[in-house]
Amino acid sequence: MTVWRDVIGQDPAIATLSRAVADPAAMTHAWLFTGPPGSGRSVAARAFAAALQCPTGGCGECRECRTAADGTHADVDLIATEGLSIKVEQARDLVALAAHRPSVGRFRVVIVEDADRLTERAADALLKALEEPTPRTVWMLCAPSVEDVIITIRSRSRHVRLRTPSVEAVADLLVRRDGVDPPMAMYAARAAQCHVGLARRLARDENARIRRHDVITLASKIRTVGDAIDAASDLSTIATEESQASSAERDAAERAKLLEVLGGDPSARTQPPHIRSQLSSLEKDQKARATRFSRDMVDRALVDLLSVYRDALVLHTGAQTALVNEDARQTVQQVAQVLPPVRVLVAMDAIGTARERIAANVQPLLALEAMALELRLPR
Ligand SMILES: [Zn+2]
Repeated sequence: MTVWRDVIGQDPAIATLSRAVADPAAMTHAWLFTGPPGSGRSVAARAFAAALQCPTGGCGECRECRTAADGTHADVDLIATEGLSIKVEQARDLVALAAHRPSVGRFRVVIVEDADRLTERAADALLKALEEPTPRTVWMLCAPSVEDVIITIRSRSRHVRLRTPSVEAVADLLVRRDGVDPPMAMYAARAAQCHVGLARRLARDENARIRRHDVITLASKIRTVGDAIDAASDLSTIATEESQASSAERDAAERAKLLEVLGGDPSARTQPPHIRSQLSSLEKDQKARATRFSRDMVDRALVDLLSVYRDALVLHTGAQTALVNEDARQTVQQVAQVLPPVRVLVAMDAIGTARERIAANVQPLLALEAMALELRLPR
């Protein structure tokens, strides 16, 4: 069944889902996909949606399969939040949508990419729909782990657990699907720690590789308080650049599109009041998206930094496994030479604490400075 071709390293999950496609008795109306970031939760959910719509159970070739996978199928709705949470109004819209019968397909499928970002009230609104399911409507919720989803939703969904795919499986996908050269694919899969989306970006974007390399080398540079403050500011700048690089173009396009729809003049200095209010609401959404994205980028940089210390521990144990940062082995060696294992663990702890604090809304720069002070190497 080729509809599953991009769902890599997930044989047990595919077996469960294929059974549900083939046998109505194994089917249910609510599914919860969990797995670490980048393991392909939404890819798996879309493949499942395609298999459910396909007349032959997921050929991967027909119109139903193709449109379900690329998000244009009339009866497959994919909801990904770009703000920090999914609000109750959005959840109510989804519930209303889910109550409709499928228009062309065999099922109506609603995929919620970030079910962990449902606010409590949004989750309550959604729960109603899960408790009184509409025939032929299928919910697919995605979250990092079951603990991230409120228990009442969890208990009404069938759980499908995805694992982190292997380095080889991710590299193979990049070669097969994106035409990346094999050595670059191996580097990217390893450096991204098997996060499929990140691996793809590293493989295709030289600036992303440079930014990652800048983060990695910070580990061997922090010796004084001044170095620590600089490192924190560098990390924050790198994250902001990464976030701006990807949003500037899109923000401008959205603004132009809105002005076009409302009949506004793009070159005018001031806009009439009814346009102004629409613009300011768009700017608010864009700002929320930028905040989330920049925070995600800081977290990603910290995961990269953490990998240096994990690699240093690997060197200390003398294990013959490949390092995540095989391309920056020298940096890892420098860190391992001056930090005994117990100090490496202290550094890893400091990074973990910073990630938790940023997730809990502490000003990123403050959390990064406190962390960087703990990462100072002995002189
Ligand atoms: Zn098909």
